[in-house]
Amino acid sequence: MSDYETVPAEVDDEEEIPTDHPRYTDLVTRHRIERGVEAGITHLQGMHAEGRGSAFDYLLGEETIESADDAERAAAAQLLLAERPVLSINGNVAALVPREMVELAAAVDADLEVNLFNRTPARIEAIADHLRAHGATEIKGLEADARIPALEHQRAKVDADGIYAADVVLVPLEDGDRAEALAAMGKTEIVIDLNPLSRSPQVADVPIVDNIVRAIPNVTAHAEDLLEAGLTTAELESIVAEFDAERALEAAERRIREGV
Ligand code: ATP
Repeated sequence: MSDYETVPAEVDDEEEIPTDHPRYTDLVTRHRIERGVEAGITHLQGMHAEGRGSAFDYLLGEETIESADDAERAAAAQLLLAERPVLSINGNVAALVPREMVELAAAVDADLEVNLFNRTPARIEAIADHLRAHGATEIKGLEADARIPALEHQRAKVDADGIYAADVVLVPLEDGDRAEALAAMGKTEIVIDLNPLSRSPQVADVPIVDNIVRAIPNVTAHAEDLLEAGLTTAELESIVAEFDAERALEAAERRIREGV
């Protein structure tokens, strides 16, 4: 019996999970989602989303594949080119990568907006508090004074000076209807989703098929590298233009289906 079989299904603290466990990332993400549900940040439905993501990540080899790294670089360039970039935060995103989202927003000068599928004032507040505890100073999505067209009332709510007015939106782990509605509004959309067949990455300009816990820090690292290299607008535009969304989705699907 390996030592790892003694890791309890439920741990009280993330620190208790051995860092050399072969499924370390999976155990950490599961633990964070459980904590998110307990703290009122994540909806119970978020557990199902996590389970689906975890299965795809297993098949991807739990690593950032080359096409995902290319997508993450293109996403960084796209965010740096944006006039009004907004990073959308739902309950799973807040539970998994709160500090990393704050750091990305700072690196590319974007706004953070809480945007929930199952929207309640208590969850919005809990997520805003959680983000503040991780360094956020300004958070949008609390007023929700505008609506995404062609979506049912609750799910359509956004801030007029946030997602509604944004030119580039990063929407991680987004539901397909909302991703389609945002694309129909003409937004340039960056989606992070471990399932390349899901509608959200399919409608994205830049689909990132990677676990959000790896993807966000890598987008930030690429943004910092691009800034340090002092690229011109034309050079950033050519990074975006060279990225092929369809090829990236095909590469991810091939890795999942055939392991190559
Ligand atoms: P859709 O409505 O887009 O067709 P869905 O109903 O399967 O798809 P949702 O439950 O709305 O999707 O969203 C969950 C999505 O997020 C799933 O596609 C899942 O693979 C993905 N996901 C879950 N956890 C992660 C994670 N940690 N990193 C990246 N993607 C994730």
